[in-house]
Amino acid sequence: MSSVLFLHEHLISNINFGSYKGIPKDDIILGMSNQKQCRYCYKYYPENTFGVALTTVSKVYRRRKCRYCYQKTKRILIQRHYEWINSYKQERGCTRCGVTNPVVLDFHHKNETNKRFGIGGFRREVGFQKIQEEIEKCEVICANCHRIVHHEAKKNGA
Ligand SMILES: [Zn+2]
Ligand SMILES: [Zn+2]
Repeated sequence: MSSVLFLHEHLISNINFGSYKGIPKDDIILGMSNQKQCRYCYKYYPENTFGVALTTVSKVYRRRKCRYCYQKTKRILIQRHYEWINSYKQERGCTRCGVTNPVVLDFHHKNETNKRFGIGGFRREVGFQKIQEEIEKCEVICANCHRIVHHEAKKNGA
Protein backbone atom coordinates (compact mmCIF):
# COMPACT_ATOMS: atom_id res chain seq x y z
CA MET A 1 0.00 0.00 0.00
CA SER A 2 3.05 2.27 0.04
CA SER A 3 2.51 3.69 -3.44
CA VAL A 4 -1.10 4.56 -2.84
CA LEU A 5 -1.83 8.12 -3.70
CA PHE A 6 -4.80 10.02 -2.45
CA LEU A 7 -6.14 12.55 -4.89
CA HIS A 8 -9.22 14.64 -4.82
CA GLU A 9 -11.44 14.21 -7.79
CA HIS A 10 -11.03 17.73 -9.12
CA LEU A 11 -7.27 17.26 -9.33
CA ILE A 12 -7.42 14.27 -11.58
CA SER A 13 -10.53 14.95 -13.60
CA ASN A 14 -8.38 15.86 -16.59
CA ILE A 15 -5.60 13.31 -16.40
CA ASN A 16 -5.37 10.19 -18.46
CA PHE A 17 -6.34 7.24 -16.38
CA GLY A 18 -3.60 4.84 -17.44
CA SER A 19 -1.37 6.08 -14.68
CA TYR A 20 -0.48 9.26 -12.86
CA LYS A 21 3.13 10.24 -12.26
CA GLY A 22 4.07 6.61 -12.76
CA ILE A 23 1.55 5.33 -10.26
CA PRO A 24 -0.82 2.71 -11.72
CA LYS A 25 -4.40 3.87 -11.84
CA ASP A 26 -5.59 1.11 -9.53
CA ASP A 27 -3.50 2.62 -6.79
CA ILE A 28 -4.94 6.06 -7.22
CA ILE A 29 -7.78 6.66 -4.87
CA LEU A 30 -10.35 9.03 -6.15
CA GLY A 31 -12.08 11.74 -4.18
CA MET A 32 -10.88 10.65 -0.80
CA SER A 33 -13.57 12.65 0.94
CA ASN A 34 -16.32 10.14 0.18
CA GLN A 35 -14.22 7.01 -0.07
CA LYS A 36 -14.58 4.16 2.29
CA GLN A 37 -12.31 1.19 2.83
CA CYS A 38 -13.72 -2.30 2.68
CA ARG A 39 -12.80 -4.27 5.79
CA TYR A 40 -12.55 -7.46 3.81
CA CYS A 41 -10.67 -6.68 0.61
CA TYR A 42 -9.07 -3.45 1.92
CA LYS A 43 -9.89 -1.64 -1.30
CA TYR A 44 -11.28 1.85 -1.39
CA TYR A 45 -14.58 2.48 -3.12
CA PRO A 46 -17.06 5.34 -3.26
CA GLU A 47 -19.37 5.25 -0.29
CA ASN A 48 -22.39 4.14 -2.29
CA THR A 49 -20.56 0.92 -3.16
CA PHE A 50 -21.39 -0.14 0.38
CA GLY A 51 -24.95 -1.27 0.93
CA VAL A 52 -27.09 0.59 3.44
CA ALA A 53 -27.39 -1.34 6.68
CA LEU A 54 -29.51 1.12 8.60
CA THR A 55 -30.98 4.56 8.08
CA THR A 56 -31.76 6.91 10.93
CA VAL A 57 -32.99 10.50 10.79
CA SER A 58 -29.50 11.90 11.06
CA LYS A 59 -27.28 9.27 9.51
CA VAL A 60 -27.05 6.50 6.99
CA TYR A 61 -25.07 3.51 8.18
CA ARG A 62 -23.40 1.44 5.54
CA ARG A 63 -22.02 -2.05 5.61
CA ARG A 64 -18.34 -2.66 6.25
CA LYS A 65 -18.17 -4.97 3.29
CA CYS A 66 -18.07 -3.49 -0.20
CA ARG A 67 -20.75 -4.59 -2.63
CA TYR A 68 -18.39 -7.01 -4.35
CA CYS A 69 -17.28 -8.77 -1.18
CA TYR A 70 -20.87 -8.84 0.01
CA GLN A 71 -22.07 -10.51 -3.18
CA LYS A 72 -19.22 -12.97 -3.03
CA THR A 73 -19.95 -14.11 0.52
CA LYS A 74 -23.64 -14.27 -0.26
CA ARG A 75 -22.98 -16.53 -3.24
CA ILE A 76 -20.82 -18.82 -1.12
CA LEU A 77 -23.52 -18.91 1.54
CA ILE A 78 -26.26 -19.81 -0.93
CA GLN A 79 -24.01 -22.51 -2.35
CA ARG A 80 -23.55 -23.89 1.16
CA HIS A 81 -27.30 -23.87 1.74
CA TYR A 82 -27.90 -25.83 -1.42
CA GLU A 83 -25.29 -28.35 -0.39
CA TRP A 84 -26.91 -28.71 3.03
CA ILE A 85 -30.33 -29.20 1.42
CA ASN A 86 -28.98 -31.82 -0.96
CA SER A 87 -27.27 -33.85 1.73
CA TYR A 88 -30.43 -33.61 3.84
CA LYS A 89 -32.43 -35.07 0.94
CA GLN A 90 -29.83 -37.75 0.30
CA GLU A 91 -29.74 -38.87 3.93
CA ARG A 92 -33.47 -39.30 4.09
CA GLY A 93 -34.27 -40.48 0.60
CA CYS A 94 -37.81 -40.77 -0.67
CA THR A 95 -40.02 -41.77 2.25
CA ARG A 96 -42.17 -43.83 -0.12
CA CYS A 97 -39.78 -45.65 -2.47
CA GLY A 98 -36.31 -44.98 -1.03
CA VAL A 99 -34.70 -43.23 -3.99
CA THR A 100 -31.73 -41.15 -2.73
CA ASN A 101 -30.64 -39.04 -5.70
CA PRO A 102 -31.24 -35.44 -4.57
CA VAL A 103 -31.87 -34.38 -8.16
CA VAL A 104 -35.26 -36.10 -8.13
CA LEU A 105 -36.14 -35.43 -4.51
CA ASP A 106 -38.69 -32.81 -3.51
CA PHE A 107 -39.99 -31.42 -0.28
CA HIS A 108 -43.65 -32.24 0.11
CA HIS A 109 -45.53 -30.20 2.70
CA LYS A 110 -47.32 -32.65 4.95
CA ASN A 111 -49.88 -30.03 5.78
CA GLU A 112 -50.62 -27.44 3.12
CA THR A 113 -52.25 -25.09 5.61
CA ASN A 114 -49.00 -24.24 7.42
CA LYS A 115 -46.98 -23.91 4.23
CA ARG A 116 -45.23 -20.56 3.98
CA PHE A 117 -43.15 -21.13 0.88
CA GLY A 118 -41.88 -23.92 -1.33
CA ILE A 119 -38.30 -25.09 -0.72
CA GLY A 120 -37.54 -25.82 -4.36
CA GLY A 121 -36.76 -22.33 -5.55
CA PHE A 122 -36.10 -20.87 -2.15
CA ARG A 123 -35.86 -17.16 -2.04
CA ARG A 124 -32.46 -15.66 -1.55
CA GLU A 125 -33.90 -13.14 0.87
CA VAL A 126 -35.18 -15.87 3.15
CA GLY A 127 -32.74 -16.62 5.95
CA PHE A 128 -31.41 -20.12 6.35
CA GLN A 129 -33.18 -20.48 9.68
CA LYS A 130 -36.51 -19.97 7.89
CA ILE A 131 -35.62 -22.54 5.26
CA GLN A 132 -34.82 -25.12 7.92
CA GLU A 133 -38.06 -24.36 9.74
CA GLU A 134 -39.96 -24.87 6.52
CA ILE A 135 -38.15 -28.13 5.78
CA GLU A 136 -39.28 -29.43 9.18
CA LYS A 137 -42.84 -29.31 7.89
CA CYS A 138 -41.98 -31.42 4.88
CA GLU A 139 -41.53 -34.99 3.86
CA VAL A 140 -38.73 -35.84 1.44
CA ILE A 141 -40.29 -37.51 -1.54
CA CYS A 142 -39.20 -38.24 -5.10
CA ALA A 143 -40.84 -36.60 -8.11
CA ASN A 144 -42.74 -39.76 -9.07
CA CYS A 145 -44.12 -40.42 -5.62
CA HIS A 146 -44.84 -36.74 -5.25
CA ARG A 147 -47.05 -36.82 -8.30
CA ILE A 148 -48.86 -39.87 -7.04
CA VAL A 149 -49.44 -38.28 -3.63
CA HIS A 150 -50.96 -35.19 -5.19
CA HIS A 151 -53.00 -37.25 -7.60
CA GLU A 152 -54.44 -39.32 -4.77
CA ALA A 153 -55.15 -36.23 -2.70
CA LYS A 154 -57.15 -34.84 -5.62
CA LYS A 155 -59.00 -38.12 -6.10
CA ASN A 156 -59.96 -38.11 -2.46
CA GLY A 157 -61.38 -34.66 -2.93
CA ALA A 158 -58.81 -32.94 -0.75
ZN1 LIG B 1 -14.41 -5.55 -0.42
ZN1 LIG C 1 -40.40 -42.11 -4.37
